[in-house]
Amino acid sequence: MNLAIIGHPIGHTLSPAMQKAALAEKFPTAEYIPIDIPPGKLVVAVEGLKNLGFRGFNVTIPHKTNVMQFLDEVDPDAKIIGAVNTVVNNGGRLTGYNTDVIGFLAGLENFNVTDSNAVMLGAGGAARAVLWALCKRKAKRISIGVRNALKAQKLADDFKDLGTIEVFHWEDQNFDDRLSEADILINTTPLGMSPHIDNMPPIDLRKLNQTAFVYDLIYTPEKTKFLLEAEKLGHKIANGVEMLVFQGAESFRLWTGEYAEVEVMRRAMIDRLSQL
Ligand code: NAP
Repeated sequence: MNLAIIGHPIGHTLSPAMQKAALAEKFPTAEYIPIDIPPGKLVVAVEGLKNLGFRGFNVTIPHKTNVMQFLDEVDPDAKIIGAVNTVVNNGGRLTGYNTDVIGFLAGLENFNVTDSNAVMLGAGGAARAVLWALCKRKAKRISIGVRNALKAQKLADDFKDLGTIEVFHWEDQNFDDRLSEADILINTTPLGMSPHIDNMPPIDLRKLNQTAFVYDLIYTPEKTKFLLEAEKLGHKIANGVEMLVFQGAESFRLWTGEYAEVEVMRRAMIDRLSQL
């Protein structure tokens, strides 16, 4: 079985470490190959992988949206999110999936989204998967805090029939009220990601409801400044490692029909992260 990940650039990708580790357990002869595909070559790459009989491939930046036009079918989650990160080749018929929703939900541990007041920071690519996961699990209200409210309103409009969603500039005083009522606060911005570890979203965590669960999608460093401050204030916290591992485990399941050894994938990922 041949698998791949396509993106541009591709050197940064962490997926090969965990997919190869998971494959070695159950499909020792399988290959998982990172391939650098510049934007102009996307259609050739997709056709090539299909015709070479690859069982499937992951898709990363900048191809997650553009790849959709070259597929035979796109799963409903991926359609709503507007991005595909996993493609399965069934005898020449390509289907696209987005496994970030499953990954995000796995990272919630025991937090129950249903009827919660959720607050998100950022409105980029990852935010679309988070927003759809929160809508799917029927959050009562989703408040999005951003630096550019006009831009984020477009995201909220795309999801307006799927949940109760509002957008704020994150320095707006009304946003502080949302923080004080939040059951969960999620950072989907890259603020605080290595090497800029002294950054964090410009919000005052002391305004946050004391029982709120604080989740940062970033996985390097293990604890961002945002998470360290939240932890100091007594909040339960989670980083992005589980999301990363479980989105990969779901890709594995889609390709192979078998559940991956998640612990093996997590260990491989943590090893790889420690080398960065
Ligand atoms: P993206 O599409 O570039 O979106 C980033 C968002 O953050 C946008 O809303 C952007 O605002 C905002 N932002 C960026 N820099 C900012 C700054 N200096 N000040 C204020 N706002 C800023 O990125 P993404 O793909 O969504 O990824 C975001 C983060 O999530 C990254 O750290 C990534 O590693 C992480 N992530 C983790 C996982 C996981 O599996 N754990 C999966 C996906 C992503 P504008 O729109 O105004 O530019």
